[in-house]
Amino acid sequence: MLLPETFQVVSFPYAGPAEAGLWFIFHHQGLVITGAEGAAELVTAPALHSLGVDASQVRGVGRLGKACCWVAHTQCEELPPGFSAEPLRSLFNRLPEALLAIAGRAQQLLDFERSHRFCGACGAANEAFDECRAKRCPACGQIAYPRLAPAMMVLVKRDGPAGRELLLAHGARFPGVIYSALAGFVEPSESVEDCAHREVFEEVGLRIKNLRYFGSQCWPFPNSLMIAFVADWAGGEIVADPAEILDAAWFPIDALPPLPHQITIARRLINATIAEVAPEHPALTVYGAG
Ligand SMILES: [Zn+2]
Repeated sequence: MLLPETFQVVSFPYAGPAEAGLWFIFHHQGLVITGAEGAAELVTAPALHSLGVDASQVRGVGRLGKACCWVAHTQCEELPPGFSAEPLRSLFNRLPEALLAIAGRAQQLLDFERSHRFCGACGAANEAFDECRAKRCPACGQIAYPRLAPAMMVLVKRDGPAGRELLLAHGARFPGVIYSALAGFVEPSESVEDCAHREVFEEVGLRIKNLRYFGSQCWPFPNSLMIAFVADWAGGEIVADPAEILDAAWFPIDALPPLPHQITIARRLINATIAEVAPEHPALTVYGAG
């Protein structure tokens, strides 16, 4: 999910309900939306009162064009009729990608507020710092900014007897029967490149070479920044780690398994690698399977 070019990451205090803007209101872990099963819409300012939004808890997320973006939690137990709270993942085809990306940022800022009310070192109540971007402990001075966890993804390819083959795996934590590139979190003191080599060897027992950067994507489920690479197979046979990988195999690009959603960097990485050798491949269709 990409923040739109017209989005500015700026912090500002809430100026009251008359302020025109975009409202990202969360009820537990779901974004509150209106609209029927099809298209979803954000809530608008007149609905804030019935949703139990406390003005003192509203935070600025940034600015989209001239519209200020706000985030807050509902204070009500049950949502009023006509509203529902949906996990962001379920809104992939229902909200524009730009709003979904801002909603991801909004949710992470809200989660930061919730989890940093007190200092992690001495336990005193934190106060807002650096124009509300951070928290500072007035007792011991410890400062906390929202954290991101860097994660790495690598698509390993080789030219086999059947042409271009991709190493795809079904992870133990994947939903459904989706197959994707290998991925893992970067460990302290490790480079992202080190992580790519280590994860591939740990998860499937292979060595890789020619590691090349592809791109990155914010992945707010929660707080991840996924950094994607493509690499060539350098040796070894697949031996999957059963704790992480339920199945892993070399798939010829004309016989691919179910792939991740088109909005994910995993799918963009897979699509770009397929397109090198098969620009008409059906998996490249924007709203295709998966
Ligand atoms: Zn402290």
